[in-house]
Amino acid sequence: MKILVINAGSSSLKYQLIDMETEEVLAKGLCERIGIDGHLKHSPLVGGKPVFNEDLPLPTHSEAIAAVIDKLTSAEYGVVSSMHEIDAVGHRVVHGGEKFACSVKIDDDVMAALEECTPFAPLHNPANITGINACRAVMGDVPMVAVFDTAFHQTMPGKAYMYAVPYEYYQNDGIRRYGFHGTSHRYVSSRCAELMGKPIEELKLISCHMGNGSSICAIDHGKCVDTSMGFTPLVGLPMGTRCGDLDAGVIQFLMNKYGYSIDEMLNILNKKSGVLGVSGVSSDFRDLDAAAERGNDRARLALDMFHYWVAKVVGSYVAAMNGVDAIIYTAGVGENSAETRAAISSYFGYLGVEIDPVANSKRGEDIMISTPDSKVKVFVIPTNEELVIARDTRDIVA
Ligand code: AMP
Repeated sequence: MKILVINAGSSSLKYQLIDMETEEVLAKGLCERIGIDGHLKHSPLVGGKPVFNEDLPLPTHSEAIAAVIDKLTSAEYGVVSSMHEIDAVGHRVVHGGEKFACSVKIDDDVMAALEECTPFAPLHNPANITGINACRAVMGDVPMVAVFDTAFHQTMPGKAYMYAVPYEYYQNDGIRRYGFHGTSHRYVSSRCAELMGKPIEELKLISCHMGNGSSICAIDHGKCVDTSMGFTPLVGLPMGTRCGDLDAGVIQFLMNKYGYSIDEMLNILNKKSGVLGVSGVSSDFRDLDAAAERGNDRARLALDMFHYWVAKVVGSYVAAMNGVDAIIYTAGVGENSAETRAAISSYFGYLGVEIDPVANSKRGEDIMISTPDSKVKVFVIPTNEELVIARDTRDIVA
């Protein structure tokens, strides 16, 4: 069975074609500047075919999907001989609200429910819906599945997901913590259980997804019980450009003082804050490491804040679960920055965590970076959201 995994943004569309017998990625690619002019980078990963990397007109997502299918099936760049070899399509959808606690096969009712979730993710869900509609238009009755970033967090208890605001805002408007990166937290936690050789139902795990956006998730016996992102992906840890937790009073103060509109204020909190805002240097942790090394105090402060926040949230989840068996680092920063992992882990002496510096210096593989004697194990596990989407799609269409 071959499954096409699609992640549609407002002007971009990422894809992978995965052979589910071997879980091998046959080809992957990225359409960019959809609706502006258009560019497609298509990389076949089997059969020694060349990479296609050119501008081509992509006025809408339908032309983008058609171009992807064309490349996947072409003699020169293709990895399958016709579209009929693609058995199903898995779509990443950012927000499933309270309607979707797991992945679902897409039909007209699901599409209507997705539209109802759009006010919760006004930037992301419309792009995901456009991608699904384009695929349905181009690929006809090929079965399709929606996999939600929020679904894994739907097991949180009320005490973790409620905000302490008047209850009717939850009841009437759905105001609550939803959490994001659920597909990533789900993948790394189940992989961690495999690496520990134990059923996930016997483990207390904390996964730290640290990339451009960052979130932490407490997974108690296989179920998410808390996570650091909230109603939107703006809160929790300070991130590349997002502010993380912030007193709402600051918003009122700054809007009054500088006359910002709410859109201007949110743009500052989403795009100009986080480690970029504090350091004034960059949102990229490589640049921050380099600047801190050169003695830039604000870069050092931004990094210190990030490490401190991760440690603080992890500590709160140890308390929430009354213990932890393993801590997982994943995503761009978590997978690549040995310095970040060491700095965060240095807070975990009270848990009996001991890091093996040699293991911690390795890259790109699933690895335990704690010593064999460490009371709580620490792992680096590269995330693979596409594989989760493909597996769910296979399981649902089969
Ligand atoms: P992601 O959102 O998971 O793709 O992560 C992207 C982020 O990972 C980048 O913005 C960088 O901050 C970070 N990153 C990637 N490689 C490294 C590295 N070697 N050291 C530190 N941070 C890195």
